[in-house]
Amino acid sequence: MSVQERLQGYSGEVRRILEEAGVEVGDEVEVAAGDRVYRGILMARYELAEPGYIVLKLPNGYNVGVRVSEGVSVRRIAPARKPSFTPPPRPPSKPGLPRVYVISTGGTIASRIDYRTGGVRAALTAEDLLSIIPELAELADLGAEILFSIFSEDMTADHWSRMAAKADELIRSGVDGIVIAHGTDTMGYSAAALSFALQKPPVPVVFVGAQRSSDRPSSDAATNLIAAVRVAGHAPFAEVCASMHAWHSDDVIAIHRGTRVRKLHTSSRDAFKSVNADPIAYVAGGEIRVNAENLNPRGSEEYRFEPGFSDEAALVKFYPGMPPELLELLAERGCRGIILEGTGLGHVSNRLRPVIKELVDRGIFIGMTSQCIYGRVNMRVYDTGRYLLKAGVVPLDDMLPETAYVKLSWCLSRARDLEEVKRLMLTPISGELGGRSTPSLQGR
Ligand code: ASP
Repeated sequence: MSVQERLQGYSGEVRRILEEAGVEVGDEVEVAAGDRVYRGILMARYELAEPGYIVLKLPNGYNVGVRVSEGVSVRRIAPARKPSFTPPPRPPSKPGLPRVYVISTGGTIASRIDYRTGGVRAALTAEDLLSIIPELAELADLGAEILFSIFSEDMTADHWSRMAAKADELIRSGVDGIVIAHGTDTMGYSAAALSFALQKPPVPVVFVGAQRSSDRPSSDAATNLIAAVRVAGHAPFAEVCASMHAWHSDDVIAIHRGTRVRKLHTSSRDAFKSVNADPIAYVAGGEIRVNAENLNPRGSEEYRFEPGFSDEAALVKFYPGMPPELLELLAERGCRGIILEGTGLGHVSNRLRPVIKELVDRGIFIGMTSQCIYGRVNMRVYDTGRYLLKAGVVPLDDMLPETAYVKLSWCLSRARDLEEVKRLMLTPISGELGGRSTPSLQGR
């Protein structure tokens, strides 16, 4: 274990003192400062916490921060005791249950607080899952693996590729369904990525996250996960999708198509909605209710693995006053395609038109989506739109901006030239284009 791990969150002079005393997080220590002596468990600290303090958990359960000034001495009383929690024995697998594999990538759903140290640790071995949520043993013969332990804001195109490769390997090994536990912030991007990489898969690939961590009474982790495992193991369809609360209460979970799902609320449990499409299914009362037609069937024999994402795509939200140089800068840095999130029906200021034309002439793809989120772009209504079309901007109908960005990254990794990027971008691959109209937002 590195010193960063042994003394998590401590730095500078305080870390030096602790290192010299030979103590580590979890040890029982004595800290003498002036005429006071404290005894307790050395706690981990958040990296952003005020430095200059040693934090101890006292025998009465309270934490105390001891300010480190001259003359502080630290002594180890006893080494860290390993937490004595032993999960209950894994319930015997029932014969005949589908084999579902859970890949954990991090985020709130995949972590739990270690109350001894205050640190967050990944908790997604199959044993952990079954001991925390025993209902899962009734639904599937479960396997689990930690692929990454990161928050989803740290995902990159390379992580999408690695997730897709893992899912493909599992599909080829014959599992009946795959669940991917993921942070909620960029779950929509990753779900879109796997929708392009795993085309017409033979088994469902279900993303799942939690808005509230498992140690909070209002957590949505268990209910979302139970629904995800149910869909992965038992749904008649095999789509890349996301399993999240449909409303505030625990009784209905919505299953959204991977290319249509978007996080629309920062904290509420029903943050995820399908945009310009209905959820493909609901899970309620232990039943899966299919809510869409023409879904890819379980057992599909048309599966194609189409991996590869380029990091030369960009997503830019237009704003009033945006300087044209921003787009130039992206091109200078090697960007080969840009998705614009324009206003309304698909507009940006006329001042950007010359640079857009120049970039398109240089072979850079420029696609238009709308920051309205709902509805579709229509660049023929106003002159602004018509001029942008003339400059070579490609309107992307009702594709979500994030999905368009992921699709562009995927297209750039396989198309030879601008014409091929355009053709691929406008070819529906996984339900991302040509959704149903949303005439009004009433009730959303
Ligand atoms: N920022 C976190 C993430 O997306 C939030 C979450 O886990 O839901 O990873």
